[in-house]
Amino acid sequence: MIKVVKFGGSSLADAKQFQKVKQIVQNDDARRFVIVSATGRIHKKDNKITDLLYLCHAHLKYHVNCDAIFQMIEERFLSIQKELNLKYPITKDLNQLKEAMNKSIPLDYLVSRGEYLTAKLMAEYLGYTFLDAKDLIYFSYDGKIDFMKTKAMMEHALQENDRFVIPGFYGAMPDGQVKIMARGGSDITGAIIAKIVHADVYENWTDVSGILMGDPRIIHEPRRIDKITYSELRELSYMGANVLHEDAIFPVKEENIPINIRNTNEPHNPGTLIMEAEDEMQSDQVSPITGIAGRKDFTVVAIYKNHMSNEVGIIRRALSVFEKYQISIEHIPSGIDSFSVVVNSADIKDKIYEIVAELKTECHSDQVKVIDGIALIATVGRHMSSRPGISGQLFAVLGNNDINIRMIAQGSDEINIIVGVENKDFEKTIQVIYEHFVSQPHMMLSDRSDQS
Ligand code: ASP
Repeated sequence: MIKVVKFGGSSLADAKQFQKVKQIVQNDDARRFVIVSATGRIHKKDNKITDLLYLCHAHLKYHVNCDAIFQMIEERFLSIQKELNLKYPITKDLNQLKEAMNKSIPLDYLVSRGEYLTAKLMAEYLGYTFLDAKDLIYFSYDGKIDFMKTKAMMEHALQENDRFVIPGFYGAMPDGQVKIMARGGSDITGAIIAKIVHADVYENWTDVSGILMGDPRIIHEPRRIDKITYSELRELSYMGANVLHEDAIFPVKEENIPINIRNTNEPHNPGTLIMEAEDEMQSDQVSPITGIAGRKDFTVVAIYKNHMSNEVGIIRRALSVFEKYQISIEHIPSGIDSFSVVVNSADIKDKIYEIVAELKTECHSDQVKVIDGIALIATVGRHMSSRPGISGQLFAVLGNNDINIRMIAQGSDEINIIVGVENKDFEKTIQVIYEHFVSQPHMMLSDRSDQS
């Protein structure tokens, strides 16, 4: 059994957190590949090392002294080293870095040092081999991961050792230059390693006990999701649930490797398992929904024209206008003589007048209406597809709570129902859906028997 384990910044924030990590790794012999983020923060007042490194670079760019910021970085690392009695000569590395900063230092190299130094300390602390991501994770010139080369490098490393600590978040371009990933990219490193070593599970250790069914700022103590499919997670993440870097799903999904989201501060909690749907027992006792997520601030552009249903190509012409202005489209709900295009308000706000004018000419429409301030809420669940009446209940619940639905969309695999409501109804919509389907599932069951 092989487990790839990734620890996020808050799991590495100080010596105490390092101790928890060691306990977790030592508790299971299968945890052979340890990926680390840069030392992060537990308390709001702390700073993430990555943020401080970015800040240093911004200072250097404008020739402003950044000694005070660099000192904060040094203190964080030195206190971990001292408290854990580690021998790694981190002062030497920090001094070298400081010297390099006096010349011109590439942003990617400087920012990647957070993960590098954290991994150096962790490798010694665990007694694992340090494997630098710049000698392992390779990008192609198009910015994509070169899996062939990365796999070959891993195989090479495995000839010498079998337990590694690897810094997340960066790799190397074909010429060897360090290149960082998007923020939160250590999740991606973990997924890449899990794929190339054919891990049985990819454990992602963070500071929450798994993925919650809804945003805790909106729902009081939402339940944890035990099991979620990759597709359900994609839907929830896209609609705003912030769990895992979304690019971390693809490498493991391709290999069908489950991801287990775990809490370093609550290691006995089983967390959430993200995996392919299996044959699961269907039961009316189980809530049909897996989670709810949503985002505010969408704009609906509605195009009206009599006898539109007989016209060929009108939707294509309308979409070409949005394409011309590089606007990504979220949904296209349609009626007989009208259809709407739902887009992110921020994307369209500076171009709206031109777009409306062009839609009128391209589509010869009778009217184009723009409705702002729309929130989209996705109710996601793989168990919805097999159970009739769920959408009926959802709409009824919103109606009973005086929430006006402005738009409805459902994906073709029936794992999500999306409703558009006014921004002001955003929180209430999420709360009443949760209340009906999760907090009071008995209500749901009795509703169903009423209907039959
Ligand atoms: N340290 C990087 C960040 O703060 C990458 C990561 O933590 O995954 O974004």
